[in-house]
Amino acid sequence: MRALVLRAHGDLSQLEVADVPAPTIKHARDVRIRLKAGALNHLDLWTVRGLPGLSLDFPHILGGDGAGIVDEVGDDVSGIRPGDRVMFNPGVSCCRCEYCHAGEHSLCVEYRLLGEHLPGTLAEYIVLPHVNVVRIPTPPAPDPEITWAEAAAYSLATLTAWRMLVTRARVRAGETVLVWGIGGGVSSTALRIAKLLGARVIATSSSDEKLAKARDLGADITLNHNQVDVAREVRALTHKRGVDVVVENVGEATWETSLRVLARNGRLVTCGATTGSHVKIDIRRLFWYQWDIMGSTMGSHEEYREIIRLLAQGHLRPLVDSVYPLENAVAAFRRFEGATHMGKMVVEI
Ligand code: ZN
Repeated sequence: MRALVLRAHGDLSQLEVADVPAPTIKHARDVRIRLKAGALNHLDLWTVRGLPGLSLDFPHILGGDGAGIVDEVGDDVSGIRPGDRVMFNPGVSCCRCEYCHAGEHSLCVEYRLLGEHLPGTLAEYIVLPHVNVVRIPTPPAPDPEITWAEAAAYSLATLTAWRMLVTRARVRAGETVLVWGIGGGVSSTALRIAKLLGARVIATSSSDEKLAKARDLGADITLNHNQVDVAREVRALTHKRGVDVVVENVGEATWETSLRVLARNGRLVTCGATTGSHVKIDIRRLFWYQWDIMGSTMGSHEEYREIIRLLAQGHLRPLVDSVYPLENAVAAFRRFEGATHMGKMVVEI
């Protein structure tokens, strides 16, 4: 089959579209999917560069997000049949450890992600456990059907943002939420989820064009973080009180400002560290202001089903920035690395 593969860790020059063996069903609970589309995530760039402790068999197929048609199912699979149009949770858990038993699949001791630890979605076929797979929902009329590109673009960013805002930070109506760097998939979805929950959202970007799109998505206030002092602006906008929740995935570059704008009793939730992962905190401020600083990653199978229900109700349809054919997937990655896109970049297979 054709696939976008990484030959070795390094930079994007290590990517190529090549012929690799198609995966086959090995377990009775597996499903094989003929992929129609895959989507790019920042995680793919980290996988290209290499993560501590991550050892891969090369050539390695990239991609965490995807959608396609079920091609074959194992003997113990029920509810999913060949021919079904499906999408899936990119996180594979053992379903045996104490965290899996508690329904906390993204805390699983053997948690692995498609395209990071496991063969990914930028290929013609993928095999994964049936518990990860759901039928693509039909939104209410008169909304159009979910396209392959939208289905592929939905899962990873929406699941990540949902767990951050709903399960972890428990954002409530009337609260103020600051979301950094609105161009990214998780950030733009976090903005939309916060609005769905009834919160007031302050969004930042270095691009006025992306901030205009953020206002289209419902952002109440937008700040160009290259042009204004975000801490001063936020304090002024909140009458010195600060925000209830900060949604972080930037790391070192924004951390100090994130704490400076956090209200008493505020919550900071983070899922990434794109500018560096070592930050400082004054413990006296932490206890005096009674902050909650929380990590979050991906989500459980139940959380995944919650976001699929929202899609079925017509909410949170992903924004697709552009669609590339698989044979041009390396060009898609070059544009993705430049971060000029707003919304998801998709590869059609
Ligand atoms: Zn487990």
